[in-house]
Amino acid sequence: MKKYNFNAGPSILPKETIDNTAKAILDFNGIGLSIMEISHRSKDFQAVMDEAVALFKELLNIPEGYSVLFLGGGASLEFCMIPYNLLEKKAAYLNTGVWANKALKEAKFFGEVIEVASSKDANYSYIPKDYIIPTDADYFHITTNNTIYGTEIHTDIDSPVTLVADMSSDIFSRPIDVKKYGMIYGGAQKNLAPSGVSFVIIKDEILGKVSRSIPTMLDYRTHIKDGSMFNTPPVVPIYAALQTLKWIKSIGGLEVMYKMNVEKAEVLYNEIDRNSLFEGTAAKEDRSLMNICFVMKEEYKHLEADFFTYATERGMVGIKGHRSVGGFRASTYNALPKESIEALVKCMQDFEQAHK
Ligand SMILES: *Cc1c(COP(=O)(O)O)cnc(C)c1O
Repeated sequence: MKKYNFNAGPSILPKETIDNTAKAILDFNGIGLSIMEISHRSKDFQAVMDEAVALFKELLNIPEGYSVLFLGGGASLEFCMIPYNLLEKKAAYLNTGVWANKALKEAKFFGEVIEVASSKDANYSYIPKDYIIPTDADYFHITTNNTIYGTEIHTDIDSPVTLVADMSSDIFSRPIDVKKYGMIYGGAQKNLAPSGVSFVIIKDEILGKVSRSIPTMLDYRTHIKDGSMFNTPPVVPIYAALQTLKWIKSIGGLEVMYKMNVEKAEVLYNEIDRNSLFEGTAAKEDRSLMNICFVMKEEYKHLEADFFTYATERGMVGIKGHRSVGGFRASTYNALPKESIEALVKCMQDFEQAHK
């Protein structure tokens, strides 16, 4: 049976990424060896690293003065590296969900943390708007896409202090104005590559301003200086990331990607709003293009398990909502074809017919 992959992460990747990575695992560049069994300092792998960095810069239009890094440890390690490297006295965080909270918690090990606003009062179903960023904070941290709750900050916000953004689940989903950010980071396993690598885009001049000493491996300057090769980088995930970047470029770049993402999300949101059995959980203006959360209306809650079985039997994979929201979540990352959305919509329509 055909599978429609709506997994939240690790999640669907372009077929090209999987095919090309599989090939390189068997025989890399025709050298007769696997990419897994050669030195990361070899000419062939150095070319992969250089091209991945160059494509990051090209696709995101990253200005001069920023470095692109590929590191291990996932987005979760960045949660502590950020305050380690940037927090001297005080940092400000926007609390938009589980991941934002995890980031905030790590900052508390290093200094004072101001939670400028929170949407916890409504189970993080919206993005707080009216908040004041303290101008004496060392940085302001946001989570642009809240993978669990299906909310997203759709614009590049203005911040009077260094803006730091966790873009784990919406990087490369739209063009961004990188110069508004001091740092953008995330785990690669949502929209870019298999797990094992995180990406960091950092403005060089924001570093070196804290008075504490930083262990070598946790100091961003180490990785900038050594081109993400201070130690052995996650070679295979970086190779896979490069394949995804090439695929994005072949499609026409981020303007085209964004247009496709808007179109895909619209089809599913329209059905959620039209269908008499379902309703969305996120505030309309904050609805994510990447993670679409919906539940059964109160009077149909008893059908939730039935719908899950019904959809699973029709090839839908990974549509169970996160336990803290319940219901359903369809992750509609870049690589998800529109055809998958159409299959899910058809499934919702047929289920509605059967239960009228
Ligand atoms: C998945 C996710 C993370 C965690 O990433 P790891 O690489 O597993 O540490 C952090 N932030 C957001 C927004 C995520 O979606």
